[in-house]
Amino acid sequence: MTKRIAIIGAGPGGYVAAIRGAQLGGEIFLIEKNEVGGTCLNSGCIPTKTYFQNAKIMNYAKHSEEFGISMENVSISGEKLLERKNGIVKNLVGGIEQLLKSYPNIELLRGTGKIIDKNNLVVELKDGEKREIEVDNIVIATGSKPLMPDVLGMDLDEVIDSDALLEMDVIPEKLIVVGGGVVGLEFASIYQALGSQVVLLSSRILKDADKEISKRMIPLLKKQGIELYNDIRATKIVKEDGVLKVTAAYKNKDEEIEVTGDYVLIAGGRGPVFQALGLDEIGIEYSNRGISVRENFETSISGIYAIGDVNGGVQLAHVASAQGEFVMEHLLGDAGNKDFENYPNCVFTLDEVAYVGRTEEELKEAGVEYKVSKANFASNGKSLAVGNINGFVKVLGDEDGKVLGVHIIGPEANLLIAEATLAIANNLKVEDILKTIHAHPTLAETFTEAVAGIYDQAIHVAPSRRRKK
Ligand code: FAD
Repeated sequence: MTKRIAIIGAGPGGYVAAIRGAQLGGEIFLIEKNEVGGTCLNSGCIPTKTYFQNAKIMNYAKHSEEFGISMENVSISGEKLLERKNGIVKNLVGGIEQLLKSYPNIELLRGTGKIIDKNNLVVELKDGEKREIEVDNIVIATGSKPLMPDVLGMDLDEVIDSDALLEMDVIPEKLIVVGGGVVGLEFASIYQALGSQVVLLSSRILKDADKEISKRMIPLLKKQGIELYNDIRATKIVKEDGVLKVTAAYKNKDEEIEVTGDYVLIAGGRGPVFQALGLDEIGIEYSNRGISVRENFETSISGIYAIGDVNGGVQLAHVASAQGEFVMEHLLGDAGNKDFENYPNCVFTLDEVAYVGRTEEELKEAGVEYKVSKANFASNGKSLAVGNINGFVKVLGDEDGKVLGVHIIGPEANLLIAEATLAIANNLKVEDILKTIHAHPTLAETFTEAVAGIYDQAIHVAPSRRRKK
């Protein structure tokens, strides 16, 4: 008998689950109260990466003299920036709607879903009607929303979250960013390159990254032109004579600073969206972080699953999608196989960061014996040609040459991490990677050099500079 499955939320978790479920023969009800694509397409990954491309162009224009090109009077329009971003989002949302329509066994219901019990839910449709659906399983994929800390001044109009900044048609003259996580750093770097004067207040830069990477990030952000204060917390925001004044206190010393700006972006993390689902009525366990799930993403009520940002685990679009595929494969009889331990993390700052696998700190804490090898982009011909020699690739490997972690800061880190992820998820060893011939001249050669260094075989690293453990 065909399984009937309801999925609440059509972000990258929900819509990918719907398509995978339909491929496997399920009858799928996909419920979405806003646009399909969720945060990722409408106010997250895609809008920011659209702006990131503008930032890269502006940065090249700023440094054009280094390439022997003179570009005078380069300017950017906030209105055109917004228009281009909206066009790209509309295009992608429309594409996903068409894709969903192409599966006869997916029904997209526009409205808000509420769970009645493990086999029944009600959808309050946009036209005011209600529709009750009986299903075999329910998958919750309702995502997350920005968290606003309890700091005086949060209610001021110019104190905004990332959703609001991405809807503005002006580029702020002076932007204060509060938050040193991925979202905060990306906005700080992008808006500085777009022309804003940026002040970044961070309590800790990229707290989950390998320490060497987050440490290197600080001078690179400063070099880019960002006024950065680290180990600091915003305590108060006031508006005086039309200007916002943020007071921030250092965590480890008795000292405060005051900075001023036109807008304050709060990038202090995101919390789960589950308020409309009726979790208490049916007794699904949850905390402030998200809906509690077991290893297979099943909630405390058997037959109901929670995937993506709403389960309080990893907040990444590709992880939400992978969880969606996994759950549908599990429900529809296909032996799903995903490595949820090793997923790439990418930070789209001008000096990009990407990493996968274990950090040095994690290996130390777990008492694992490891070797470290690093290769700098400064000795890569392609790096010099593209005009970005900042950064390095750091590889961690074990005694047997198994790759345990790869941490990259530098040009196209977000592309380079794909090969490292493939290597780690498939337990590849140094010799497997070195057996593979890599193209020249490419940035990927810095990855192979760092991998080779685990066996002390890097060609472009002088013996005296090889750092091994
Ligand atoms: P969401 O994408 O949040 O989708 C949930 C959907 O559920 C929404 O469409 C919502 O309207 C709907 N919904 C909620 N409640 C109900 C209900 N009761 N009934 C019906 N529908 C409901 N991740 C990356 O991997 N790469 C990036 O580069 C990246 N950049 C980001 C940049 C920013 C500024 C932000 C904010 C996030 C970024 N992320 C990025 C994170 C990424 O957007 C999320 O991890 C991802 O969108 C989570 O997917 P999801 O399907 O779990 O939830």
